[in-house]
Amino acid sequence: MASQQPERKTALAFLAHPDDAEFLCAGTLIRLRDAGWEVHIATATPGDCGSATQDRWEISAVRTKEARRAASLIGATYHCLDERDIFVVFDKPTLKKAIDLFRRVCPSLVFTHAAKDYMMDHEMVSLLARAASFAYAIPNVSHDVPRPAGAVVPYLYYCDPFEGVDPYGNPSNPTTLIDITAVYDRKAEMLACHASQREWLRAHHGMDEYMEAMRRHAASRGKLAGALYAEGFVQHRGHSYPHDDLLSHLLPPRN
Ligand SMILES: [Zn+2]
Repeated sequence: MASQQPERKTALAFLAHPDDAEFLCAGTLIRLRDAGWEVHIATATPGDCGSATQDRWEISAVRTKEARRAASLIGATYHCLDERDIFVVFDKPTLKKAIDLFRRVCPSLVFTHAAKDYMMDHEMVSLLARAASFAYAIPNVSHDVPRPAGAVVPYLYYCDPFEGVDPYGNPSNPTTLIDITAVYDRKAEMLACHASQREWLRAHHGMDEYMEAMRRHAASRGKLAGALYAEGFVQHRGHSYPHDDLLSHLLPPRN
């Protein structure tokens, strides 16, 4: 089926932690920006457990600054729901925050975590993104942020689970592979903004494992896509969500 381009060209990556977007979908976000899309990156938490030496307030300040800087490299806007690492839940107040974020951004294309992933923050955000995608255009769903003009049920794509396997060790099977070879260096530059995470891993491993882990995964998806580097996604195709593979249509392989 031919893909209809949505009227609004606004993409939202809603993920759990600062640096998740850079690992999982930044190459695709860069290609969308280059194609004229507005891009937003949101995290549920400010990454408050991402340090063994700084308290939660210090590390949150550092990591949100890193995330904002990474987003700014591609002209994207960074948002944070200000939940807490490990304690992200699917409940009424958190879903309300997610819906209000969606109403402010008004996305026509959403990226989130795989439904099954290695940690529960990711799975909870996946549920929140799915529910907020379905609900945000409903007029009465929130009285705090008015329904934006042009709100629709957006295209929804799940990023790969960590290392491409679910918590039971089964490999995920992407419905969509996006060639990111030409923009890989820019994706790496975004990830390198997260110096607080890169440095402790480098000290621990004695090598640049942070950057290497991303390269390994992008190369393994590249193999499936017939490219040097790629990102993999599973499209949500439930009732009321757009079914055609917009991403493959918008971002064909590049030579
Ligand atoms: Zn994460």
